[in-house]
Amino acid sequence: MPFPTDSDPDTEITDLLDRELERQTTGLQLIASENFTSPAVMRAVGSVLTNKYSEGYPGKRYYGGNAVIDDVEALAIERARSLFGAEHANVQPHSGANANMCVYQALLQPGDTVLGLSLDHGGHLTHGSPVNASGLLYRFIPYKVTPGDERIDFDEIRDLALEHRPAMIVAGTTSYPRRLEPEPFRAIADEVGALFMFDAAHVAGLIVGGAHPDPVPHADVVTFTTHKTLRGPRGGCIVSKQQHAKAIDKAVFPGWQGGPLEHVIAGKAVAFREAADPSFREYAHQIVANASALADALAQEGFRLVSGGTDNHLMVVDLQPFDAELTGKSAQTVLDQAGITVNKNTVPDDPRSPFVTSGLRIGTPSVTTQGMGTTEMATIAAMIAAALRDHADESVLASVRKQAADLCAAFPAYPARVSNAD
Ligand SMILES: *Cc1c(COP(=O)(O)O)cnc(C)c1O
Repeated sequence: MPFPTDSDPDTEITDLLDRELERQTTGLQLIASENFTSPAVMRAVGSVLTNKYSEGYPGKRYYGGNAVIDDVEALAIERARSLFGAEHANVQPHSGANANMCVYQALLQPGDTVLGLSLDHGGHLTHGSPVNASGLLYRFIPYKVTPGDERIDFDEIRDLALEHRPAMIVAGTTSYPRRLEPEPFRAIADEVGALFMFDAAHVAGLIVGGAHPDPVPHADVVTFTTHKTLRGPRGGCIVSKQQHAKAIDKAVFPGWQGGPLEHVIAGKAVAFREAADPSFREYAHQIVANASALADALAQEGFRLVSGGTDNHLMVVDLQPFDAELTGKSAQTVLDQAGITVNKNTVPDDPRSPFVTSGLRIGTPSVTTQGMGTTEMATIAAMIAAALRDHADESVLASVRKQAADLCAAFPAYPARVSNAD
């Protein structure tokens, strides 16, 4: 039987794909958790591997026909272990959230106490938010950033650890602009006999590129996403000490997931190889240099930066001193109209709700992939300031939108021949 799409192409979807390609490549993508993955990764993800059921692990599958799949997954595992210098890797988690839940299931009992960074201070939903399964299944105690310098407060973490005797301490952030040193977490975990999990979802690319401290030697387990700074396909991954390998593999399958997405795992393998290339170190350091330049230029435009700046790939802009009336929500909408994609974000102890917020999170992984440098970051800061200052003036927004399109044309994300058909 021929596929119906051979005679009746699904133009509704192909038109939408074309529109999204256009959107991604004609506006500035400044969402800190996004990136442009390579055409090689997209080819793997769009491959026939999507057809195969391969429940289990290489050499231990439930169905036949997995000889090639075994090689694909074994290669991905080997590349992940080598890239992260890890004893064990599980490349099957469908997402970063899944990776975290799998680790909890592997190493905790329901009801166990865990310390994690509060969501509104830069943590992640899966670090114990009451609306997330992590918060329902485990007793998470949130720690916060200090009111003064807005940094992670190791004194507070130690006090909480001594008081609550957690089974695990979780480090890792979603909207925290500073280096996260793994050693102090390890020391506190050792003092109270807790496990230490480092969620490197955002910073995995910075870690393997040598631009961020490496948690792998210190943590029992490191989880990460493959689609943020690591620049691979959308997915998750877990690396750990050999001691936890069996429990983690069991928690991923059959614990949380069914058949693995081997086409995505092939894409992860491609991304791990790309991240092992010496050019990726340069990329990771340029992301950080660009974030720092963008933060400095935004500060000069009158924005307050949470914690005073950044030393990773993102910054959180507190809009309140710039314009007390301007919410994160409306700033996001204004910038969308100006061809600049960012996301609203709470600032520590935000007086507004998470749906409104008083801040923006801005990141440089995507524009750095496009080849932009510190000069362009100064231009982008001026564009953001112009749009937000005159946010009611349509002509200003149109002119910034034109500038954004020109900048993207000068620094194309993809070679012209790349299309959704690739
Ligand atoms: C993005 C993120 C995740 C979740 O990743 P998904 O792939 O969206 O599920 C988990 N932890 C942290 C710290 C993150 O930033």
